[in-house]
Amino acid sequence: MLDTRSTQRPCPVCENARTEVFIEIPSVPVLCNVLWPSRAAALAAPRGALYLTFCPACGHVFNAAFDPALITYDQVYENSLHFSPRFQQYALSLADRLIERHALRGKQVVEIGCGKGDFLQMLCERGDNHGLGFDPSYEPALGANGAARFEVVQDLYSEKYAHHRADLVCCRHVLEHVEAPRAFVGTVRRAVERQATTVFFEVPNVLATLRDLAVWDLIYEHFSYFSPASMAHLFEAEGFGVTEVREAFGGQYLCLEAVPGPAAKRPDMAPSPEEMAETVADFAERYERKVAAWRALLEDLNARQQRAVIWGAGSKGVTILNLLDVRDRIDYVVDINPRKQGRHVAGTGQEIVAPAFLESYAPDVVIVMNPLYEDEIRAQVQAMGLAPRLVVA
Ligand SMILES: [Zn+2]
Repeated sequence: MLDTRSTQRPCPVCENARTEVFIEIPSVPVLCNVLWPSRAAALAAPRGALYLTFCPACGHVFNAAFDPALITYDQVYENSLHFSPRFQQYALSLADRLIERHALRGKQVVEIGCGKGDFLQMLCERGDNHGLGFDPSYEPALGANGAARFEVVQDLYSEKYAHHRADLVCCRHVLEHVEAPRAFVGTVRRAVERQATTVFFEVPNVLATLRDLAVWDLIYEHFSYFSPASMAHLFEAEGFGVTEVREAFGGQYLCLEAVPGPAAKRPDMAPSPEEMAETVADFAERYERKVAAWRALLEDLNARQQRAVIWGAGSKGVTILNLLDVRDRIDYVVDINPRKQGRHVAGTGQEIVAPAFLESYAPDVVIVMNPLYEDEIRAQVQAMGLAPRLVVA
């Protein structure tokens, strides 16, 4: 059942003080996409706690133990998402949708947290727009070659850039990392004070996490887990009118559009926080059962002296190892990305190896982190003359 203890930390979206912790994970690496050069370094990787907390007032979920001071993003950080063809395809269709919906042709587009500028470049090229990106970690040398169409300011977006007219302000996968989302959105609101600007924000969808029991997707880097209701609440509280909140990317993302001032018509924001409370309580129970089942599986493998490997050194693979605190029952993690091979998993120390390593290692069990690749992995191990049991995490 839901732990009804009040926490010290009020909701970062609606400031309600009566929030409820429903999952406690005492220790996870603070950066799960950083891999380490040695087992010792990996075991000593900085750690933090995950106290997943529900706000029954606005339907928000957040990590009450989040401490942004523990996180320092730098070039070692590899967000493998952007190399996925499925994600790239999604980004293209999203760019086209925004261009059509808002008649963005020959217009000015601002992107907050534009990374290397890939999405901004799409918006500019496909709509013949001009772009201005903001990202404090932008490295000019790595910039895409669309220099004439867009420029990037190595800074946080704020009121001081309000004189740059914008027809669309977009911001993808930033808000969930921000410790003070109200202040962040308030700054954006002031920067678009007197303009007919649409803002577009995309974040992971907590409803998908809860619905799919996606426990291996819980990562320290995310402070906030937005629901449609909490996302809308955040923007309305800072003076925006919300015009659309929808699920995208197979339900895994939430996309919000808003304009300064009240919206002509507020869209439906289901489920309500009351309805979510049930889903959250249900998730907490299913979470305990899932973790217990995995512990039992690992103990069983150990008792039979069977060898298991994890396939996939992305954040899911790192999270399952850390959540179950597996340090010695599994020694290797397979990944096809050569940049990861030879490195070690943050927190639990496993070495990352190429698929060919399995030929000599001959594992009894392969734990598949991404079900989309199950068939491909089965074909690969069979081609090596192996017949391990495949278990989808
Ligand atoms: Zn709240």
